[in-house]
Amino acid sequence: MTNKLLPCPFCGGKAHIAVCDAEGNPHDDSYENDPWSGLSYTLMHSFIENELCPIAHFEDTTLGTTLYDSREELIKAWNERIKNG
Ligand SMILES: [Zn+2]
Repeated sequence: MTNKLLPCPFCGGKAHIAVCDAEGNPHDDSYENDPWSGLSYTLMHSFIENELCPIAHFEDTTLGTTLYDSREELIKAWNERIKNG
């Protein structure tokens, strides 16, 4: 089981894991140690870092609206989607 996200299938750029509260508001990684408002994870893939990417977002840096309960779950979902085309 890998713990790395594969590169974005559209632009080849890096995707990151963003630590969020239960409502999907992004926090920095230290929030994970003290998740006072619930804990979830989402994908981050910003337009600033990946200018040519058709799925990177302008306004905020999170990608999509799906929240995952664990890093493992998020990584599995992203990587398997890429591998399966
Ligand atoms: Zn991309």
